[in-house]
Amino acid sequence: MAALTISQASCADDYDPNSMPVAKARAFIHQFLEPVAGAARVPVRSALGRVLAEDIVSPVDVPAHRNSAMDGWAMRAADLDAAKDTTLKEIGASFAGKPFAGTVGKGDCVRIMTGGVVPEGADTVVMQERARADGKSITFAGGQKQGQNVREAGEDLKAGAVALRKGRIVRPAELGLIASLGIGEVCVVRKLRVAFFSTGDELRSVGSTLGAGEIYDSNRYTIFGMLERLGCDVLDMGVVRDDPRLLEEAFGAAAANADVVITSGGVSVGEADFVKSMLGKLGEVVFWKIAMKPGRPLAYGKIGRAHFFGLPGNPVSVMVTFYQFVRDALLVLMGADPVEPVPTFRATCTARLKKAPGRTEFQRGILARGADGALTVKPTGEQGSGILKSMSDANCFIILDDATGNVEAGASVEVQLLEGIV
Ligand code: AMP
Ligand code: MG
Repeated sequence: MAALTISQASCADDYDPNSMPVAKARAFIHQFLEPVAGAARVPVRSALGRVLAEDIVSPVDVPAHRNSAMDGWAMRAADLDAAKDTTLKEIGASFAGKPFAGTVGKGDCVRIMTGGVVPEGADTVVMQERARADGKSITFAGGQKQGQNVREAGEDLKAGAVALRKGRIVRPAELGLIASLGIGEVCVVRKLRVAFFSTGDELRSVGSTLGAGEIYDSNRYTIFGMLERLGCDVLDMGVVRDDPRLLEEAFGAAAANADVVITSGGVSVGEADFVKSMLGKLGEVVFWKIAMKPGRPLAYGKIGRAHFFGLPGNPVSVMVTFYQFVRDALLVLMGADPVEPVPTFRATCTARLKKAPGRTEFQRGILARGADGALTVKPTGEQGSGILKSMSDANCFIILDDATGNVEAGASVEVQLLEGIV
């Protein structure tokens, strides 16, 4: 853990809470992140989406036996004439799971199928397309190479070697790899417990009737979805009214019961003072105006031992700040290593984009393939931070960095896919 406290760090010379670049806010947060302690042994399939708490060491050679990469015949390379056809005698067969028990001697060959054990004495496999069979008399074309089409035992992985490193997130490929080693249980990092609530007098939960000026709370649904997909253990604490006593209670309870506390609303200029003074009593929190759109206000800090992310209230801002700040932070806390930022790539923008320099914008885009096969992207339409449909219609962010101004149609822009972000 960095020895630095949040208030010390936030007093550093080049720190400006009123114009915090995205990259700097990310780097700031990362100084305070340490993976949670605690692990559990689970059956392999239950490890899907979890983080490995220990290296997985291979107890066996992979492949376990020298075997054939092709359907064909196995023989001694020394018996094959390099320049012309050679005829050998077939003395048996080695099929996957049914090895040939004898030894391949001079002038012999053995019918072999992919995955079949290469028999004793043989060192080479000729694929069947390069051979002609006449009963047990098999003729092979010239030009074969010693050792071809033979997979050596331990070629993919030696017994005792690390197959998967601690910190790896288990995906379907890892499930299969672990199973291929004959391992039935693995040790995974315990789930991260994340408490969240929405703040705002105007918010009502789904199921209640709206009064004048009231709206349904949607942030608890998007936050729930993103946390579930990341594999967190979620604690939904509902809506908390803009009342200092209730908020203090909620923050206290959330921090006591979770590794991470996430709230939405209440961090914008109009409301922050209130939350700020209250959080000042409970922990150490910095309030930023991030140089980004949407998602300008953001708070980060510690309340007791819990990490706190105070997201803006606007529904699109919540998702953008979660994806751009909270996702990576949670992965670090979950023990994932390395934590790879979601990759970005470039596509041709088919529409003109309005953009002011001096901040990073995350416009919602639709990525497609043009008639020529090249990637194109267009904005979803209105980009207001309250228009959640823009997130739903989008399959990517169009990321326009601080230096960028208006973008003309036909220009190349940076995009980041939403699917796979969590
Ligand atoms: P705030 O950051 O609290 O000033 O909220 C900014 C805007 O987002 C306001 O229009 C709020 O009504 C709206 N908002 C805040 N929280 C939520 C929520 N949980 N669900 C939907 N809209 C919200
Ligand atoms: Mg509010």
